[in-house]
Amino acid sequence: MKRTIQQSLPISASDTESELDGSVLTDFSRFYILLLLFEGEKHGYQIMSSIDRRLGQKVSPSLVYPFLRLLEDQNLVRSRAANVGRKPRNVYSLTSSGKVLCNRLFKQFTTIVSSAIEPSMQVCAHCGCKVYMNAYSEVIKGKRLMFCCKYCAASYKRGEK
Ligand SMILES: [Zn+2]
Repeated sequence: MKRTIQQSLPISASDTESELDGSVLTDFSRFYILLLLFEGEKHGYQIMSSIDRRLGQKVSPSLVYPFLRLLEDQNLVRSRAANVGRKPRNVYSLTSSGKVLCNRLFKQFTTIVSSAIEPSMQVCAHCGCKVYMNAYSEVIKGKRLMFCCKYCAASYKRGEK
């Protein structure tokens, strides 16, 4: 059987995609670990179970612990030994430079998220505010208009500013 070009390539297009998906997810997991630490100090197991519970995604200890060590090496995180239940665990918390880093990352993330949802935003015809979901719509003089709420629609109809 002749091999197609695709088959003779070391990786097929779909492999590339799943690898890319995988690395986006691991990067997101790292980001999420920072977010969890920003909420307060946690031990490794708490981090893994929170990610599992909140994102419905398993994260491997081989991602979590090396990442925590890396953060600690860079003085972004500090750890202390604590007894959790009967088990001694390392509890991790952000240092002040870790918090500074998080604030910066969260700001960037907010910018990314806003530009991602921007196309699906509606602008209120009365006050001009942006509405992501559940915009209130009403047909006024044969035209469907979007509002943030029914009060804005009412003000619009009364011709108020
Ligand atoms: Zn409005």
